[in-house]
Amino acid sequence: MNIRPLLVLPFLSSLLLAQLTPGVSAKAQAIHDSAIVVDTHADTPQRFLDENFDIGSTDPNDIGHISLDKAKRGNLGAEFFSIWVEPETNQGRYAKHTFDLIDSVYEQAARHPDRMMMAFSVADIERAHKEHKLAALMGIEGGHSIEADMHLLRDYYRLGVRYMTLSWSNTNEWADSSGDINDEKVQHHNGLTDFGKQVVLEMNRLGMMVDISHVADKTFYDTIATTKAPVIASHSSARALVNAPRDMTDDMLRAVAKNGGVVQVNFFNAFIDEDFRKAAEAQSKDVAAARQQFIEKSKAEGKPINYIELDRIEREWMAKIPRPPLKSLIDHIDHIAKVAGVDHVGLGSDFDGVSGATPQGIDSAADLPKITQALLDRGYSATDIKKILGGNLLRVFRQVEQVSEAMRSGPIDTVDGAAREVK
Ligand SMILES: [Zn+2]
Repeated sequence: MNIRPLLVLPFLSSLLLAQLTPGVSAKAQAIHDSAIVVDTHADTPQRFLDENFDIGSTDPNDIGHISLDKAKRGNLGAEFFSIWVEPETNQGRYAKHTFDLIDSVYEQAARHPDRMMMAFSVADIERAHKEHKLAALMGIEGGHSIEADMHLLRDYYRLGVRYMTLSWSNTNEWADSSGDINDEKVQHHNGLTDFGKQVVLEMNRLGMMVDISHVADKTFYDTIATTKAPVIASHSSARALVNAPRDMTDDMLRAVAKNGGVVQVNFFNAFIDEDFRKAAEAQSKDVAAARQQFIEKSKAEGKPINYIELDRIEREWMAKIPRPPLKSLIDHIDHIAKVAGVDHVGLGSDFDGVSGATPQGIDSAADLPKITQALLDRGYSATDIKKILGGNLLRVFRQVEQVSEAMRSGPIDTVDGAAREVK
């Protein structure tokens, strides 16, 4: 027997074992599969709660972005599930709905202990990776969830919430949002209130990452000036490329770099492609009217508002606009890497939260290796790609844990002491 086949055999078998994503080379796939891939924003809990969706679903016709199978195919190692409470329809029960969504994530993990585990730390994410399980983390999207109550913030931390977006699209009692900053009917605070600053410091002390996605520009700068730990933007893209107020200016990107934080790029077409954004804006009144019509009809019939139906309406409208190429998304990663540095950019997909409007080729978490291929094609090294895929977020998370340890063990300073006194 010739010795050569013996030498080639391990190489061949490793190639055969590796599942290649269509359009992804063996080299890109190997880089991708060797990384701990972290995504910091998926709205799947809405589906867990409202649709009774099972993350173990293998339905080939399911249009969702996240399932355990899809995560496995895309080598997704950790997902931060978004705990998002719609502020209009949940008035008077923000905390209740927050708890319900948190419960929905735990219930999924309990159903699939062999493939998924709750995770609360960098060490947990690394352990899940070794055990080939999806690490499930939680981030609260919108400070209104704490009902201006520091006790609730701490309770959420105890339940495992590891980041909080200071505001969603709505300005709350203590933080201005980019979503309504030009609405004169909304009472604004010129950024963060004193209580808002105490929330940021209490998050630092607890070890909960401070997320500045969605906030108004002034809130962003107030947060940067207040925080003792690096911040994250859990799902934000670059305003220099797309003129969405939700996207971050170059000056903001540089401020995050200086702070040591990370900007996790949002995949939503209206945030990554200017043509798509304009087309979406042009039809926004029609979409709002269609939504309103549905809501009124539900009310008239005495039915609760069905979010799955509302999402179907949004999807129909989004589908009218051509999807931009994957290049649009990669341009944002590349831009942030150039302006802030490659240590300050990562992935915050907004999966299951954008009515299906992701760029061509990205239909679910299974397609994440295509991003690695595209970065490789642009000349990014394996080391830098792995930072973008998750290394940067893990670094920031680790630093947030360290700041928390230092603040918890150190003398209670006046600000922290005050934070404990506030309701
Ligand atoms: Zn969002």
